[in-house]
Amino acid sequence: RYARINVLAPGLSWGHVQRQLQQSGHVFWRPSLHEKRAAACVSAGLQPPEGNKIYYRDVHLPELLVFKPMGQSHTDGELFDEGGLVFQQKASAFPAIALAPPPGAQVIDACAAPGSKTSQLAAMMKNEGQIFAFDRDGRRLKTMIELLQRRHVSCVEACEKDFLQVSPKNAKYQHVTHFLLDPSCSSSGMTAQQLTGDEVATLTANQQKVIRHAMRFPACQRIAYSTCSILDKENELVVQKVLSTAEGARFQLERALPWWPRRGLPVFPGTECCVRSTWEDQTIGFFLALFVRNETACKPAA
Ligand code: SAM
Repeated sequence: RYARINVLAPGLSWGHVQRQLQQSGHVFWRPSLHEKRAAACVSAGLQPPEGNKIYYRDVHLPELLVFKPMGQSHTDGELFDEGGLVFQQKASAFPAIALAPPPGAQVIDACAAPGSKTSQLAAMMKNEGQIFAFDRDGRRLKTMIELLQRRHVSCVEACEKDFLQVSPKNAKYQHVTHFLLDPSCSSSGMTAQQLTGDEVATLTANQQKVIRHAMRFPACQRIAYSTCSILDKENELVVQKVLSTAEGARFQLERALPWWPRRGLPVFPGTECCVRSTWEDQTIGFFLALFVRNETACKPAA
């Protein structure tokens, strides 16, 4: 189980986190440099010693603390209640990290509720700049607003709206450079539930529309597209189709999270720029692609 240290919580320091966890019986494990180096090359990460109350920093994302699943009941405490530590799956932290908006950036989180990635973006931006967070589901948006308050987020303007109805010509969004797109998907990376072909087709149609719509915004430079699906139809094939459109022709893939070993399925040349994860990586099934406007793109590694 993963918990992100929320740097937006007032007065939070690493020492405070450690002390609080120690008080609830947790034991911090510090791997050797050799163990860290070896673990960084494999997606499964570190192999901690036995003990349910051991916790450690994730080797790929040190802002995440890793707890044994058995120990989770001991992590319901002040730190979590006050928003200092927030549960977030490792793979679900990938899109914001790949998008990397600097403090002061203008960002659109197009499919934002319940706000897990929105709050991570705000933390990366130190609450400086502006995140426009849309979701078409009012109930989920309400949950998000509450979650953002608990996590001390102050740079988000939340709006119940279908992102496809947000005009790229609206003066308000003329300086938005970073887009996080995490639309509805089959969730096949998290559940064994099977959707019908028609249901998946409806999802992939919306996924493609959302990406192409983001590409129409005049200042759009970077787009992180993600799903918690393991189906190539919702992942690499969506990316391939979008790149073949007029909007997509102005963008290319950048190698997302170059340090992560598991890459996109080889469905078309360039999918090695994309990131995948599975349960073998001690996280959920997940997919991430990073689109960058042509003139700002770095060439993918050969
Ligand atoms: N990013 C969220 C997080 O990290 O907590 C999870 C998003 S969830 C996978 C997908 C969300 O996308 C749903 O809340 C759904 O209502 C929303 N959604 C799907 N298509 C949308 C669209 N065209 N416009 C706005 N919201 C959309």
